[in-house]
Amino acid sequence: MLTDYHVHLRPDDLEAESGEFFTAENVDRYLAAAEERGIEELGVSEHVYRFREALEIWDHPFWIENARDDLDAYAGFVRTTPLRLGLEMDFVPGREDRIANLRDSQEFDYVIGSVHFVGDRAVDHEGWDAWGASGDPDTIWRRYFETLAEAARSGLFDILAHPDLVKVWGRARPLPERDPRFYYEPAIDAIAEAGVAVEVSTAGLRKPVEELYPAPAFAAMCVEAGAVFSLSSDAHVPEDIGYGYEQALDAMGRWGVREIAVFEGRERHLEPLGSGEVAARGDSSP
Ligand SMILES: [Zn+2]
Ligand SMILES: [Zn+2]
Repeated sequence: MLTDYHVHLRPDDLEAESGEFFTAENVDRYLAAAEERGIEELGVSEHVYRFREALEIWDHPFWIENARDDLDAYAGFVRTTPLRLGLEMDFVPGREDRIANLRDSQEFDYVIGSVHFVGDRAVDHEGWDAWGASGDPDTIWRRYFETLAEAARSGLFDILAHPDLVKVWGRARPLPERDPRFYYEPAIDAIAEAGVAVEVSTAGLRKPVEELYPAPAFAAMCVEAGAVFSLSSDAHVPEDIGYGYEQALDAMGRWGVREIAVFEGRERHLEPLGSGEVAARGDSSP
């Protein structure tokens, strides 16, 4: 089984309006790309902050400028398609009840938890850059993984997105001197306790860091802790569906990951990890 669950129907820019991208024609382009790449389960997970309802969770200026769409309309539209219905929700510390209320307002197949911000600065967005004047890498990495740990332990989410997103800029931002495993540790403990699925995301291959999320050391610690994994591209255009999956499958094989998490109605089960094409060839042989 191959999945692509962390998928956006449109680019992140404000001009990419829902009316243009939440259409049957656009969904067909995504489904065709998935079929071509042997991906059996395709789901979408728009950013929570693009919906007006998200302002009940957080009133960050970036969220205010993005909150234009209606969550009911999104969920209703996705239910007219074969796509699984998901949502990418930022974890905002202290707003757990509000996050749960919004999450429970729709019948999602899965909810993906993300950490993009430490405090009110973003680790991956130049407009709200956490790496400014006082952006000491040791502090940012520590806070990032502590927040990720809180997100896992909150029990709010089915999947933890791009788990080491803090490395997104690669060498374009300072790296801490310590062994990264020092920073990972609180997050791994929380992942093991909460049982949340850890996303293997090929988005990092398209970013300055040019690596999968998570890094091999993070993955090894997850495997050691008995964590389960999901697989996604974080595509924002149909061309990126299943992007870099060969590389991801190679890496997961090396890590000893044989199964991936599959979701429906926020129920999780595990399926053997592998290409649909291989399975189809096996079925058709005499
Ligand atoms: Zn994200
Ligand atoms: Zn995303």
